[in-house]
Amino acid sequence: MLLDIKDAPDKAQRIFRQLVDVFDDQEINPTPLNYYIWYQYYKGNHPKFRQEMDAALNDPFGYNDRLGRRLYDEYFAEDEPTNEFDRAFKRLINLVIQKMNAWSDKLEQHTETLNQCTDSLTAENVDAERLRELTQSVLSTASSMKASSEAFQQDMLQSNEEIAHLRQQLIEAKAETMTDELTEIGNRKAFNHTIRDAVEEHSSQPGSLILILTDIDHFKRFNDTFGHLVGDSVLRYFANMMKKTRGDNESISRFGGEEFAILLTNSDLESAQARAETIRKTLQQARLKRKDSSENLGEITASFGVAAYTGEDIEDWIHRTDDALYQAKKEGRNRVVVAAAPTEEDTS
Ligand code: GH3
Ligand code: MG
Ligand code: MG
Repeated sequence: MLLDIKDAPDKAQRIFRQLVDVFDDQEINPTPLNYYIWYQYYKGNHPKFRQEMDAALNDPFGYNDRLGRRLYDEYFAEDEPTNEFDRAFKRLINLVIQKMNAWSDKLEQHTETLNQCTDSLTAENVDAERLRELTQSVLSTASSMKASSEAFQQDMLQSNEEIAHLRQQLIEAKAETMTDELTEIGNRKAFNHTIRDAVEEHSSQPGSLILILTDIDHFKRFNDTFGHLVGDSVLRYFANMMKKTRGDNESISRFGGEEFAILLTNSDLESAQARAETIRKTLQQARLKRKDSSENLGEITASFGVAAYTGEDIEDWIHRTDDALYQAKKEGRNRVVVAAAPTEEDTS
């Protein structure tokens, strides 16, 4: 049975998502045992084990497979698994350990046989008949070694499949943490990554990066009138409309509650402002109805702040955009306000 990350308790899932990056960064082999050890380390329930890991990680040689095996034997091998996920995990670890042990036992047996043959061959009184016997024995040992080595590789390949499967699940689970469940667009965490990457990538042309923040007008009142569930479907409509009409240079995320961020690359203030205007009008003109009763939901509007990046701290850029959005609210909502470039005072 394949290990399924979905069976893991929430906390374990959160830990495992981080491990993919940790293992890549620190070049740790993605064996089940290593995953388990690092999972326990992050879980942090075992002070003495934690101390040993901390000490090992301070060492320039850091963590390696051998240390992992020792820590596993010392702290976890005898532990009773506390849930289905732990049980499946330990089963996989034991399977790999058993295979390694069986392989090393076989290798030892073969080496023993070969040593005996060598001893006999170097003895003085080897006649032709005995020589034939010994040669036979060497040949059959060699072929049996080959067979068990192939079986071992096959076995290992199978556990590799399980490991690849686990890794794939971790990558997918990580993608899930970047997606907003309600609207299925990037969440705040995804936005943070995107904006950081964009700034890094376009450092030579900061002004070509434009941020738009938009916030639905009087959404509290809307929820109070129609209920939170209908509010949810408006958020889904809004996100979906922006996603469907988005250009290749645009990434859209849910910035928070009823607020969304649109990040444009290779753009300029004028076209970003035009894009914000298009979204604003499309929302205002949408004739949304309740699914259950077809009741008209009335006009829904949103306000927008737009700001170009000037090479400042990312936080300051977001602040300037948010100030422009606030200005749009103050001026009566349902409008787009473009932020002025920061003044000397702002940047000092
Ligand atoms: P303003 O025009 O100034 O933005 O007024 P507002 O009422 O939209 O602003 P306020 O910040 O006072 O309220 C935001 C509302 O958005 C309150 C909250 O219930 C609602 N909201 C936030 N997240 C969700 C959500 O996931 N679903 C629903 N239905 N409503 C949400
Ligand atoms: Mg609002
Ligand atoms: Mg808001």
